[in-house]
Amino acid sequence: MTDVAVVGSGPNGLAAAVTMARAGLSVELFETADSIGGGTRTAETTLPGFHHDVCAAVHPMALASPFFRAFELERRIELLVPEVSYGHPLDGGRAGLAYRSLDHTVEALGRDGRAWRALMGPLLNRVEGTIDFTQGNLLRIPTDPLAAFHFGIRTLLQGTPAWNLGFRENTAPAMLTGVSAHAMGRLPALSTSGAGLMLGVLAHAQGWPVPRGGSAAIAQAMADDFLAHGGRIRVGQRIDNVASLRAETGAKAIICSTTPRALVAMAGAEMPEGYRRKLESFKYGAGVCKVDFALSGPVPWTAPGLRLAPTIHMGGSREAIAFAEREVLNGRHPKDPYVLAVQPGVIDDTRAPLGQHTFWAYTHVPAGSTRDCSEDIIAAVEKHAAGFRDLILASSVQSAQDISAYNVNYIGGDIASGAVTLKQLLKRPVISPDPWRTPVTGLYLGSASTPPGPAVHGMGGWFAAKSALTNTFGLPAPELGLPA
Ligand SMILES: Cc1cc2nc3c(=O)[nH]c(=O)nc-3n(C[C@H](O)[C@H](O)[C@H](O)COP(=O)(O)OP(=O)(O)OC[C@H]3O[C@@H](n4cnc5c(N)ncnc54)[C@H](O)[C@@H]3O)c2cc1C
Repeated sequence: MTDVAVVGSGPNGLAAAVTMARAGLSVELFETADSIGGGTRTAETTLPGFHHDVCAAVHPMALASPFFRAFELERRIELLVPEVSYGHPLDGGRAGLAYRSLDHTVEALGRDGRAWRALMGPLLNRVEGTIDFTQGNLLRIPTDPLAAFHFGIRTLLQGTPAWNLGFRENTAPAMLTGVSAHAMGRLPALSTSGAGLMLGVLAHAQGWPVPRGGSAAIAQAMADDFLAHGGRIRVGQRIDNVASLRAETGAKAIICSTTPRALVAMAGAEMPEGYRRKLESFKYGAGVCKVDFALSGPVPWTAPGLRLAPTIHMGGSREAIAFAEREVLNGRHPKDPYVLAVQPGVIDDTRAPLGQHTFWAYTHVPAGSTRDCSEDIIAAVEKHAAGFRDLILASSVQSAQDISAYNVNYIGGDIASGAVTLKQLLKRPVISPDPWRTPVTGLYLGSASTPPGPAVHGMGGWFAAKSALTNTFGLPAPELGLPA
């Protein structure tokens, strides 16, 4: 007898499954792929002994997500927190470095240090309120209105053409733009600046950790807890129809960590027409082309500070990155693209044989692109690390189309499972105090297509599970932590 069926074993599906099992319910988790994890798998995609993160690699939310905090993720796996959260190479061998320490960062930014402190300081002083405001449904009264106010004002400033106000040089603006570009949207815009500010604040608060051994450790920790609480995992099982799943399992609640499009395909016939139309109008964003490299040594960055930063943003100045991102949104492959790279070997020596390294990099491309961007990425790195090409032992590319085939949640290679626009931050996928609950009895949606949106934080699944506990079972949310 199954009380709950969960569809999808990414971080959101696993968070939902853990929560429901911890509440004492009988839970079955269905995953179409042959292994669990969704966007948090690690595999030897190039050479034996080189462990690459297939999707997510760096985890700004691992220590900040309210779900992971309740779950006590940091007591279950080793999260390695670097002293430099991210670096941003610029022309002339220069680089901007975001240290964990705000003071250090301010000092390194020289003339723009004060402006950086003015931007980040008030948010850091109220970091709990900032996290709470951004990690839920934006349509609710914030628990710390002052934090929300500081965040809102700064989002407005950084999300409009006034974004350079207060800055005198190009390093700090480039650093901010490199972070905002994670959201794969227009620059400047309120959606991208909000995402960038949140990530930027976390760089100085908890830091941007990488899990020892790879991102799969996160999924495994959740799966272990789920199994320990009686959960059952079925891999290699694609769910195409919610009614059949309900009939076969007897589940009173079904939580889907899928896209709205997939939810319509699985349960459209049961939905009121208005709701179905809203799901159908949900927009998907640009794609990414991602390349794994096996390297014979560390990347020879010209700016020495970059050798300390697991995460590197390339693409040059603020204006250059904004232009490249606009090109992508207009359906073109930019000549000098934005490149997001992760070199986990800087802090985790378990990823490759002794002295060798893994290097993870992606660039944004138009949705559905089939282009192999390996050469674009190599050229971008070579600009700031001459000799990089000579270190490459092997590489493995996933075009946007390949990413879409790898995981049905990444439509057209959109790794955010839905365009990150202001409209779609409020309407993800519907405007509601409980967007995780659907009008179909016992059917919930908890994925990156629901608030708070993309990234590995488990929050969408946790919210969906809590809604199901209240509305279907009349149960309180359970404790998720480890015994003391
Ligand atoms: C290349 C890449 C790089 C990324 N980098 C980062 C990063 O560094 N940091 C970060 O925080 N985030 C990153 N992300 C984003 C992050 O991985 C996602 O936001 C996150 O995994 C979303 O979690 P989810 O549980 O909603 O969905 P997913 O993790 O995508 O999992 C969904 C799961 O559901 C399964 N599924 C879907 N439909 C069905 C069905 N009908 N039946 C059965 N199973 C189904 C899928 O197979 C998949 O396993 C990256 C993503 C990609 C692709």
